[in-house]
Amino acid sequence: MIEKVAEVILKSRHLIALTGAGISAESGIPTFRGPKGLWKRYRPEDLATPEAFARNPKLVWEWYAWRINLVLNAKPNPAHYALAELEKMNLLKMLITQNVDDLHERAGSKKIVHLHGEILKVVCTRCEYEARLNAPPKEIPPKCPVCQALLRPGVVWFGEPIPPAALSLAFSEAEMADVILVVGTSGVVMPAGQIPYIVKSHGDIVIEINIQESAITPIADFFIKGRAGEILPRIVDEIKRKIGCF
Ligand code: NAD
Ligand code: ZN
Repeated sequence: MIEKVAEVILKSRHLIALTGAGISAESGIPTFRGPKGLWKRYRPEDLATPEAFARNPKLVWEWYAWRINLVLNAKPNPAHYALAELEKMNLLKMLITQNVDDLHERAGSKKIVHLHGEILKVVCTRCEYEARLNAPPKEIPPKCPVCQALLRPGVVWFGEPIPPAALSLAFSEAEMADVILVVGTSGVVMPAGQIPYIVKSHGDIVIEINIQESAITPIADFFIKGRAGEILPRIVDEIKRKIGCF
């Protein structure tokens, strides 16, 4: 299977990737849907919403402060590096991530679109102010230095639309793609979960890597069951071996 997938990637004209929380799990950042997904007694679906923030900004910010710390202390794993390497080899044309961490960037990926925003960004709920964080905010909930309104995390919450520029870039990449590599996503968060279906709808190839079956598996031409940090480097090694052979 690894050999065949390496061959498909090598022959691709426009390879894209879609990643989810699973690719960062081996870096110690918990997924939402999994045993370690809970924080205190709350479910992420009850915290990552505009309603939760309106009701209790302090609670939501405490959860984000905890997650910001996790991200700042985490390091990219071999799966992030493997995707960065595919980009350097000019095989991967665009990396679409649902992740809000910066581990893809730290591994060296450049052509990347964050569908759900970035956890290391804060934006004002009233004015245009935004900033990057290198530590959790000192005051919780943090206030805008310009207008004193509440600052919010620079992420897309459940029920909110994806920023139009990110969404149209992701969808046009899905239209162009002849192969998509789907890694560590449950595929249930929409519209991100539609992206592999768009690729499939024009008769192109879906490769999936996940430790278990997902909402994408039914349309996967290749489903490799395993940890992203183990499988992706093996695919890249196989590609290098093949290039060496030619
Ligand atoms: P999800 O939590 O719904 O699903 C994670 C998927 O990863 C599951 O299918 C699981 O089987 C798989 N997985 C777990 N460990 C894996 C591994 N080592 N290798 C391969 N696959 C593995 O995540 P999602 O689909 O990204 O959707 C949840 C939403 O939560 C997204 O919108 C995302 O923005 C957000 N989120 C982001 C982060 C992050 O930035 N690191 C973390 C948690 C949640
Ligand atoms: Zn402001």
